[in-house]
Amino acid sequence: MRRKLAAGNWKMNGLRADLTELDTLHKDLPDLGPTEVAICVPATLLHAAATATGESAIAIGAQDCAPQQKGAHTGDISAPMIRDTGATFVIIGHSERRDDHGETDADIADKAAAAWAAGLTAIICCGESLATREAGTTLDHIATQLTGSLPDGVTAQNTVIAYEPIWAIGTGHVPTQEQIAEVHDFIRAQLDDRFGAKVADNIALLYGGSVKGSNATEIFAAENVDGALVGGASLKASDFLPIVAALANS
Ligand code: PEP
Repeated sequence: MRRKLAAGNWKMNGLRADLTELDTLHKDLPDLGPTEVAICVPATLLHAAATATGESAIAIGAQDCAPQQKGAHTGDISAPMIRDTGATFVIIGHSERRDDHGETDADIADKAAAAWAAGLTAIICCGESLATREAGTTLDHIATQLTGSLPDGVTAQNTVIAYEPIWAIGTGHVPTQEQIAEVHDFIRAQLDDRFGAKVADNIALLYGGSVKGSNATEIFAAENVDGALVGGASLKASDFLPIVAALANS
């Protein structure tokens, strides 16, 4: 069965006091059915967040991991360390990591493989810049990113793909329904070509970029949109809950 996931990305936001948002989220969660919920918190909050959410329906994720398992890599955090906190997801290859830290598709593939080896589900991100969109080469760009960023061995259990047009992240500019559907359909077809129908039919494809309670229902109506990766609107439970409810009802 195809996974459905509402994933929050707190980015570099959140102190211990903000973990009360997870309590509120838990308390007010709608009937989820098969819909999964994950909040990807800063590394400093991973253990506390995983402890606070415990066996609840809220999974905890990190926002990056090192490609290596351990060793002399000052400041980096490995996938086994993340798993040791109780977290079960990790975002890999977010555009902010690609841009701020020069992460390449090859780096992202290495990180995804490290995440899988530690038992984490990798949320692997792709998405075009405004310049690429305007040049009309979005699908070529997505194909290149998928080819380079996805290691062999992708399954519907170990991987979720997030399509996040960079120009839509944090801007309030949401692509048209046609634009979202075109890229999601393309991603599913690419996965079918490389990994086969069993993986392609069951893997969750998330849309990310200015998702809010007010536009979530429309976005989730697209056939190949199975959830969202949500930045700003995941920081407050009151903003995130309507998105979760829209997905659970989709
Ligand atoms: C993100 O950073 O993954 C994101 C989608 O951010 P926002 O929802 O704030 O656009």
